[in-house]
Amino acid sequence: MRVFKFAPQVKLPPATRSSMNNAASTNRPSTEPIGQNHRADDFRSRDLRELCAGELPLSARLEPWMIDQIAGPSAHSLVNQYGSPLNLTFTSVMARNIDEINRVAQQRHLDFRVFFARKSNKCLALVDQAIQSGIGIDTASENEIRQCLTRDANPADLICTAAIKTDSLIRLCIDQGICIAVDNHDELAAIAELCQESSKTATVALRIGGFQHQGQKLFTRFGFDIDRDASIVNQLGSLPLSVQGIHFHLDGYDAGQRVTAIAESLRWINRLRESGHRPSFIDMGGGFPVSYLDDPTQWEAFLEQHANALLGRREPITYQNHGLGRHVADGKLLGESNCYPSYQSSTRSDWLAEVLDSKIGDQMVAACLQSNHLQLRCEPGRSLLDGCGMTVARVEFRKQNSEGDWLIGLSMNRTQCRTTHEEFLVDPILIGQDHHKEASISGYLVGAYCTESELISLRRFHFPNGIQRGDLIAFPNTAGYLMHFLESRSHQFPLASNLVIDQSGATSLDPIDQSTD
Ligand SMILES: *Cc1c(COP(=O)(O)O)cnc(C)c1O
Repeated sequence: MRVFKFAPQVKLPPATRSSMNNAASTNRPSTEPIGQNHRADDFRSRDLRELCAGELPLSARLEPWMIDQIAGPSAHSLVNQYGSPLNLTFTSVMARNIDEINRVAQQRHLDFRVFFARKSNKCLALVDQAIQSGIGIDTASENEIRQCLTRDANPADLICTAAIKTDSLIRLCIDQGICIAVDNHDELAAIAELCQESSKTATVALRIGGFQHQGQKLFTRFGFDIDRDASIVNQLGSLPLSVQGIHFHLDGYDAGQRVTAIAESLRWINRLRESGHRPSFIDMGGGFPVSYLDDPTQWEAFLEQHANALLGRREPITYQNHGLGRHVADGKLLGESNCYPSYQSSTRSDWLAEVLDSKIGDQMVAACLQSNHLQLRCEPGRSLLDGCGMTVARVEFRKQNSEGDWLIGLSMNRTQCRTTHEEFLVDPILIGQDHHKEASISGYLVGAYCTESELISLRRFHFPNGIQRGDLIAFPNTAGYLMHFLESRSHQFPLASNLVIDQSGATSLDPIDQSTD
């Protein structure tokens, strides 16, 4: 077996070199994000990011705990012990994100409740953190619910928004008194029938969709259609259901669309009340925006230069000039980027404030909800996990393809750092294994699936000090969706291990890796 020297290949300013491993725990709580006040960390992260950067750089926002992992001695030994890739999670950043969102609602004296959208990451440490922080959990499957109950979640703090609801799932919700977000007529009939069977009453929220926003109907596959299904309210009275609220979840990150949907939900609440129901909440779902980058100019430059490359005005910056959703026909750039917008100016709590301070008629949204005696619920996933995770993989080879492009082979596959988007547009970070400085190299990261399309990242990266077998590549900020949403065991590769790091830096395997579901 190969013996690694655990000396990080990083250049650090003298002031931070000695405190490298414990800077986060001594100077300040390591749940604070990197900002202009933390100049030492600023230096550290800039140097760390120099060893691997995109042709058009997209420098990742880093949390202090990530920098400690990258600059410290443990990453290589952890990957040796647990395999590649390895998912790292740090849950106290989630607690910080929850506090940040709650504060915005508190400032407006709003009755407000956050539910963590669990499908964004499978780790049970995050469920534990949600419970510890006193928030609810939005579940998308029977196993997700059962696992939450095993972690001692209160059933009243769960909501089930599963896209497909089997009898067995519905029975579990009815037995436990878990609120079901009802999506369609068949589901409603099944819930009613199973209630009658067990002589129980189901707790439900009506999921609605198809909102009219700025003259256009917002497309969705989910929920009762606000136009076509408006009469559903009249059919509910005879059913063994307690209708507790109105639910929606929209694609995208447009605050204005949420305001439109809340206004429509208020009309449904009124109709429910007129029919004798006693709904108490509107659930606005998730979609709180996240920024993966600090620098908006990097994002703008990337989009612009990528467009130029597609139009043949410059060298490609993606593998075989991949369009990431856009393409060129008749000399024109068509289509839209199918990537998460890595930089967004309004995120998490600012974005929520924008929604709450918008007007419905002449009343602010927050005041409108209060005067209607309604609780506002939300189900953020990605934005609660912002800053909570990092994925680390080992470099196994460098080679050239038939066209001479350099390929860097990683011990991981593309399902282990990917969502339904085309690409995760953030520069990874190189964690070298020694001080050996090689010739600079540029190339693409490829993975273990045996297909030509198996790229871990479609962007070309520069490695000014080279890269070699045994080095590590870290993908920052992967906890929201990137780790687990698409992960597969194709080729019989084992799934990645999930390691939880606590505030003291101690590590333990997440309990999900011991469960058999
Ligand atoms: C996926 C999902 C969420 C979470 O969305 P984010 O973009 O991660 O905040 C919330 N609610 C429902 C119903 C969902 O399907």
